[in-house]
Amino acid sequence: MEHLPIYMQLHGREALVVGAGPVATRKAALLLEAGARVRLRAPAYSEAAERLLREQPGSISRDPGVYDSECLDRVAIVIAATDDAEVNRQVSEDCVVRSIPVNVADQPELCSFILPAIVERGPLTIAIGSGGRAPVLVRLLRAKIESLIPAGYGRLADLAGRLRDRVRARFDHVNARRAFWERAFAGPATELALAGRMDAAEARLEQELADAATSTPGEVYLIGAGPGDPDLLTFRALRLLQQADVVVYDRLVSSEVVNLARREAERFYVGKERDRHCVPQAEISALLSRLAREGKRVARLKGGDPFVFGRGGEELDVLAADGVAYQVVPGITAASGCAAYSGIPLTHRDHAQSVRFITGHTREGRLDVDWDQLNDPHETLVFYMGRRALSAICQGLKGVAQRAGSTPAAIIENGTTNQQRVVSGTLDTLATQAERAGVGSPSLIVVGDVAACHQRLAWFKPDAGADAAFPQPMPGPQTAAASAA
Ligand code: SAH
Repeated sequence: MEHLPIYMQLHGREALVVGAGPVATRKAALLLEAGARVRLRAPAYSEAAERLLREQPGSISRDPGVYDSECLDRVAIVIAATDDAEVNRQVSEDCVVRSIPVNVADQPELCSFILPAIVERGPLTIAIGSGGRAPVLVRLLRAKIESLIPAGYGRLADLAGRLRDRVRARFDHVNARRAFWERAFAGPATELALAGRMDAAEARLEQELADAATSTPGEVYLIGAGPGDPDLLTFRALRLLQQADVVVYDRLVSSEVVNLARREAERFYVGKERDRHCVPQAEISALLSRLAREGKRVARLKGGDPFVFGRGGEELDVLAADGVAYQVVPGITAASGCAAYSGIPLTHRDHAQSVRFITGHTREGRLDVDWDQLNDPHETLVFYMGRRALSAICQGLKGVAQRAGSTPAAIIENGTTNQQRVVSGTLDTLATQAERAGVGSPSLIVVGDVAACHQRLAWFKPDAGADAAFPQPMPGPQTAAASAA
């Protein structure tokens, strides 16, 4: 950050503007709006300055004469806007020595503060700055924000200001206060205020304040964070994540998603890998329960969908037993995400009428799979957590399950992210191909005729994933048609 944005209290305080041309007058008017008592130091006054002096005689006054440092006595803030570069520089130097905030029009190098572009809605003030780098961009952005925020927000902010002390008195804890305002700003009182019905809005807020329990019980949001690409988060996930006081997440949740939480939210990492040891499941569940019982809103982020190989059910069992409130937000599971981003439809009228999600996790080196149930050639099989057992999976399918060795199969590593890699082959070849390519984790295995679609339907081009060591998709009919055109 080049400058710290702050809002300065200037009501009744002395401000000096050196200069009295049109620019100086504009700056003086801004200081007046902020409630300052403005003195205009200049040997002569422009038409515009004369007008301002006439319009607001009580708050702005003349200080005729050329600049000298004595004008700086008891001044809270200074703006110089003369057409004499030497005077401007002198004002800046004198202020810096005296630690008086100074701004020199159009000369950022002489400023100890700069003035942002401002969008104002009553007490709601949005300041935009680019550290002096791109004023035009700032102006465009300001226009955009102006058009985004209805005038009613100013009235709403005023109303909130009137109720602030009472809300503070009613709730002991800052979390409960924040929860009250979040509900209020998302609720009917806000709609009324935006529609200009301020009395009704105020009555409604008063009612909500009277009805509100004085301490909000905590709650756990069990949120599916999707397979990696943060764009795949749902709106509800985003909203709850931004309300949460605490975020508990594990390894498969991308940092982009975790960073969507509020800056002040506490963060707990409970995954393995980083320190090669993971927090035991019982401890995670106990942590969630304890945090919620302390009155916190806890976002429990899980990769993919919390109810697909996510142990979400186990966590909820503990919460339910402890009487802790919770909500579940579904997420895009790895099978959907990886399938979409690798051009492999999980079902297909011609090739697959059903799809099965299977865990490829091994216990003491053994796969716990009912092979004889997997013999339907029209069923797509998706193995989660199967990277290490890939070879055993292919063997099992060709053996007991009697799937043909030529059955198409693919493995997708880091699906939906910029590191996505796809290796596709058959049950006969996939294990060797994946080994050769060094496919790691997380990765997902898809088996069935649909896996061959990757060759012609792949569309996603990750920045980093395309690896020369990988077999590139064969040009399919579409690509051929496109290049022929
Ligand atoms: N609840 C998660 C699954 C957790 S089990 C979900 O619904 O997706 C963890 C397994 O999910 C990994 O071993 C891998 O098989 C799969 N997985 C999760 N994210 C993945 C990704 N981005 N790419 C490939 N596989 C992924």
